[in-house]
Amino acid sequence: MDELVVGIDLGTTNSEIAAFADGQVRVLGPASSKILPSCVGFSPSGELLVGQAARNQQALYPELTVRSIKRKMGQAETVSLGEKKFTPQEISALILRELAEWARRQLGQPARKAVITVPAYFSDAQRNATREAGMLAGLEVVRILNEPTAASLAYGFAEGRRHTAMVYDLGGGTFDVSIVTVEGDVTEVLSSHGNNHLGGDDFDDLLLERLARSFQKEHGIDIRQGYPVARARLWWAAEEAKKKLSFEPYARVREEALAVRNGQPLHLDLEVSRDEYEEMIRPLVEATLDSVSHALRDAGKAPGDLDAILLVGGSTRTPLVSRLLVERAGLEPRQDVHPDLCVALGAGVLATRLAGRDVERVLVDVSPYSFGPSYLGERGGFSYPYCYQPIIHRNTPLPVTRTERYMTSVPNQTIVEIKIFQGEDEDALKNVLVGDFRVEGLRAMAGPNEVLCRMSLDVDGILHVTAIEKDTGKSKHITIANALQAKSEADIAAARARLQEMFASRAMGDDLFGEEEGEEEEAPEAEQSGEAISKVVPIASHPAHVAARRLIERSRGLFERMHGDDVEEAISLHERIEAAIAVQDQRDLKQATEALKELLFFVEGN
Ligand code: AMP
Repeated sequence: MDELVVGIDLGTTNSEIAAFADGQVRVLGPASSKILPSCVGFSPSGELLVGQAARNQQALYPELTVRSIKRKMGQAETVSLGEKKFTPQEISALILRELAEWARRQLGQPARKAVITVPAYFSDAQRNATREAGMLAGLEVVRILNEPTAASLAYGFAEGRRHTAMVYDLGGGTFDVSIVTVEGDVTEVLSSHGNNHLGGDDFDDLLLERLARSFQKEHGIDIRQGYPVARARLWWAAEEAKKKLSFEPYARVREEALAVRNGQPLHLDLEVSRDEYEEMIRPLVEATLDSVSHALRDAGKAPGDLDAILLVGGSTRTPLVSRLLVERAGLEPRQDVHPDLCVALGAGVLATRLAGRDVERVLVDVSPYSFGPSYLGERGGFSYPYCYQPIIHRNTPLPVTRTERYMTSVPNQTIVEIKIFQGEDEDALKNVLVGDFRVEGLRAMAGPNEVLCRMSLDVDGILHVTAIEKDTGKSKHITIANALQAKSEADIAAARARLQEMFASRAMGDDLFGEEEGEEEEAPEAEQSGEAISKVVPIASHPAHVAARRLIERSRGLFERMHGDDVEEAISLHERIEAAIAVQDQRDLKQATEALKELLFFVEGN
């Protein structure tokens, strides 16, 4: 049997272990979760707890639980757990021992040698403490590896050319960004910047505040003062809601009997939207971008020098992170290797090589194509019914589920027709139609009716699409088999011809989507369900809102170059745009975005 060398990501919030198994580098551990919370504690009855069990009791028994021990590595100070005292190395050793046990159970062989990762900025004392923790856990630490280097190993870059990458790592309690160059086997960290006290935990705290304030407003009880059990429940609920908001536009938080008054249970029932959540965390994400600028400057690089941005750390699943990075760096970040497993997998790649086996990069199941519905939006200043933006993006690890928001496009629209495309082009007609269906019997509403489109794609290439009327929960679902199968030229040509035909027949009908020059943007006449299919209007763009918000983001980035008056005007336009979005006033939205575009045109032109 080959010698087993494992790769370990000993993280502030979570830790993972990876090794070569069944033909590739894999993260190891129980089927339920391969992520071990970096928490150690004693139960009130004195039992040692490592991982999830310790994390579960952390909010209730903080004095019996240690978390984030990584922050203390290399310091002389000890931590107390009940009556006992431990060095940071000892606590870390307990985490490492648990991980090594996971590997032994899965592979039937003890792990004696390990590669352990540390942040690029770790000092010698911190690196030595990590080495010592390994030894205490019975592991020979054959290499201490920088985390950004591990991430670039997991991705693997094509041989031959020197690559420059930015590794953006946002975990639970820490943030760091590094600029690295990779050439063959050699990765060099050019610069690193970050904040040791910024991460997903702060996002949880902001959501918790929001939930607690809402409960206080409704019931007059402040859960944050003197209600430890209820507070712990809210904290869990906040983290769950946060994770959900990475994939869904809304998260509903329901906590039954959070408190009791006069024998009556008091419940929390609240829906938080992604838009609202993103506004809360935006200043924190913006702060990470300052570190990005610093790191680039220290490395003597400009955004244009980057070949790739690699996302690492669970919190980078937050969509706002990628969005702001695209805006600032002009480059779509890669997240095709699971961001929370990426560092462990990279350590696993090096461990496997050190054990004498040649492995290139980590293999993960990703979607080779993007998928999404067409919608009525704007192209080149005109309404266009075949706008397209993917919901599932190419290179997303599988399985994946994502949901986006759309609106009906005319008053009293009771039917929507949903067409699902595979491809990358903003014009759906240049992509491949993979399925379509109609949802009938929507509520007739004078204003826009919100329709959610949820897409799930699994490793077997089965694509599930569900359209849901937001207010009623009424839904319709289709399954598209073989969504990942490459389409032949003939399939593509046939799908395009079918679409062109549909498009042409619609264009000959009444002009639902066209807008005459100089004409006010009046909504077309009411649609009746049951009319001919050419009269059924597709779902309309929530993307108009997205575009308006992107414009706001762009203008915020230009404040430094604006005169005081212009900044004031921009801010008042931001408010007007947000208000127009909130009340669905499309006309004012259009006027305010045009005014903001004009303002930016002059600033950017200067
Ligand atoms: P890490 O330190 O890399 O393990 O990241 C842990 C952090 O990632 C915690 O704050 C988690 O709550 C957060 N996290 C995990 N999954 C998600 C998700 N789907 N969306 C947002 N944050 C997440």
